Amino acid sequence: MQIITKITHLQHVLEAFKKQKKTIGFVPTMGALHNGHISLIEASKKECDVTVCSIFVNPTQFNDKKDLERYPKTPEKDSLLLKNADCDVLFMPEVAEMYPEPDTRTFDFGTIDKILDGMFRPGHFNGVAQIVSKLFYAVEPHKAFFGSKDFQQVLVVKNLVKQLNLPIEIIACPILRENDGLAMSSRNMLLTSEERIAAKIIPEIMLGVTKQKNNGLSVSEIIKNTNLLLSKNSLYKLDYFVLANAITFEEITDWNQATNYVALIACFVGKIRLIDNVEF
Ligand code: AMP
Repeated sequence: MQIITKITHLQHVLEAFKKQKKTIGFVPTMGALHNGHISLIEASKKECDVTVCSIFVNPTQFNDKKDLERYPKTPEKDSLLLKNADCDVLFMPEVAEMYPEPDTRTFDFGTIDKILDGMFRPGHFNGVAQIVSKLFYAVEPHKAFFGSKDFQQVLVVKNLVKQLNLPIEIIACPILRENDGLAMSSRNMLLTSEERIAAKIIPEIMLGVTKQKNNGLSVSEIIKNTNLLLSKNSLYKLDYFVLANAITFEEITDWNQATNYVALIACFVGKIRLIDNVEF
C-alpha cells in the first residue's frame, strides 16, 4: 500500500493506473478506522481494480470546535488495518494541502442539507461538499463508496456529483454494527464505559419502530414513546428522532405517507453525539 500526502503525487500514481484502463474505487474517511470503514474498502475492492482510501479530518464540516479537537486520531492503527484489507493507496493530506486558500464556496442542496443534521449542525453539509468535491477532483475515481449510516450525507453527495457533472458513481453500503446493535462509529471510542452501555438504547429504539408499527401504533405515538424513554436518563439529549419517506426524504406523520420508511435519530450520550438510521 502506498501512503501519499500530496495531491500531485497522488494524481501521478493514479494516472499510471488509469493509463492501464484500471478502474479506481474511492473511500473517503476521517480515520480512527473500524470494520464499518473496512467494509467500504471491501466493497470497493470487489467492484474496482484499484482502491484509494483517504483519511482527512475535515475542519470545515465541524460546526463544534470541541468536537473537532476531540475527534480521535489513530494513524498507525489505521494504516495497518488498510494494509491488511489490501487497500492500494492511502491518501493522508495535511489541512494546508487540501485548503491552500480558504474554501469560500457555498453549496445549496435544497431541503436535504437544511433539515435534521443540516439544521442541528449548521454548515456541516457545506463543509462535506467542499471536501468531498476537492477529494473527487484529486482522485477522479470511477466509483466512490459511502456508508448508509450517514444517510443524509449520501443524499448530499449524490446531489453534489449531479450539480458538478462529475462522472462518479456513488455507492451506498450497509451499516455495520457492534454485537449489541450499536452502529460502528469512530466516536464510539470516546464514550465512557457507562455511556457505552447507555448507547445501546439507540439501536433498541430503531428496532422498536417496526415492532411498535406492527402493534398498531401511530407515528406520533412512537415519537412520543421515544422521547419519554430518553427523558428517563439525563445522559441522553435527543437532537431528533423522525420517520421519513425513504425515497423523498420528507418527514412523515402518518403511515399512509410512504411505503418505504427510514427512521433517523441523532442523540447525545454524554458529550458524544451519535447518529443511526434504519430503512424498512
Ligand atoms: P467517517 O470516517 O465517519 O467520515 O466515515 C467515513 C465513511 O465510512 C462514511 O461514508 C461513513 O458513512 C462510513 N461509515 C461510518 N460508520 C459506518 C458503519 N458503521 N457502517 C458502514 N459504513 C460506515
